[in-house]
Amino acid sequence: MKLDVDALRYLSKEDFRVLTAVEMGMRNHEIVPAELVERIAGLKHGGTYKVLRNLLKHRLVHHDSSKYDGYRLTYLGYDFLAIKALVNRGVFSSVGRQIGVGKESDIFEVATEDGTILAMKLHRLGRVSFRAVKSKRDYLLHRRSYNWLYLSRLAALKEFAFMKALGEHEFPVPRAVDCNRHCVVMSLVQGYPLVQVKQLQNPDEVFERIIGLIVRLAEHGLIHCDFNEFNIMIDDEEKVTMIDFPQMVSVSHRNAQMYFDRDTDCIFKFFNKRFHLSFHHDKDGCDDSGSDLEDGRPSFWSIEKSAGFLDKELAASGFTRKEQDEIEKKVSEDNILAICIT
Ligand code: ADP
Ligand code: MG
Repeated sequence: MKLDVDALRYLSKEDFRVLTAVEMGMRNHEIVPAELVERIAGLKHGGTYKVLRNLLKHRLVHHDSSKYDGYRLTYLGYDFLAIKALVNRGVFSSVGRQIGVGKESDIFEVATEDGTILAMKLHRLGRVSFRAVKSKRDYLLHRRSYNWLYLSRLAALKEFAFMKALGEHEFPVPRAVDCNRHCVVMSLVQGYPLVQVKQLQNPDEVFERIIGLIVRLAEHGLIHCDFNEFNIMIDDEEKVTMIDFPQMVSVSHRNAQMYFDRDTDCIFKFFNKRFHLSFHHDKDGCDDSGSDLEDGRPSFWSIEKSAGFLDKELAASGFTRKEQDEIEKKVSEDNILAICIT
């Protein structure tokens, strides 16, 4: 999605006031009645309607008059609110080119006042699912509440909290800089996603390092759940950085072993296919990192896991157990959807 931030410069205080009013109204309305927007914004002389027309022109809100005269935020409107808040806080001062389009996110370079380039990830939960949901109306009926705004914000909060906690435990992750709404700002990782790397000097070492990360995460009570060649970055020194954490789960999750094995499997398959590494049964059942192996793979059950990490450290970053449960539910709903539509 193109992010044209030029309009940001031309938007007035009133524009942002009304945009924020629409956002507030969306806490309990999918489409916010125009009168409610007016009441929340509290602009004098009925100025709200004029402002709404301007926001509509810039595609920051969507107008819906099917049931009543109302508005909702668009992704772009939500982007503007987050960007404005982060710029006001001095986190960055300009937005540059797009560097990644993920399954459920858009990633841009941003620059700070002193010229440092950072990465900004805008979460777009619901983008994939909306399409899926359209063809699965029945499923939607059973869904409690469907709110992309809330889910995208939750995903960003979770990603930020994990990135921070993992960084503090010296996992190779981007440095977590700040977070607002559905937007996470982090350091820019040098290098390329593993999927783009055609050759490595030391594929064995890189492989060991990556498997070692999966094991160490489990020791800390965590499973990445999307650990694959798209979410591992490699630089020129073949240093590994892992990214993309909104779907991580605890080792106490009921499907923990399945997720752990799936992550491990992805890496084994990729290294076998791309770098022709072959794996054989290890007689004494141990690898260099000391974990037991089953057919050359780390076994989930033989890892000593500490399950308290999630609760203690993440709660400290403002990410609660309740939110963790909600987003885990969303992850499994997505898995159900994926099964439904394939
Ligand atoms: P998604 O959850 O949508 O898959 P990711 O976090 O995996 O999003 O990011 C998508 C792509 O954006 C990555 O594959 C990578 O190329 C790029 N990217 C993400 N974060 C960074 C970063 N901090 N530095 C550099 N590139 C990044
Ligand atoms: Mg990704």
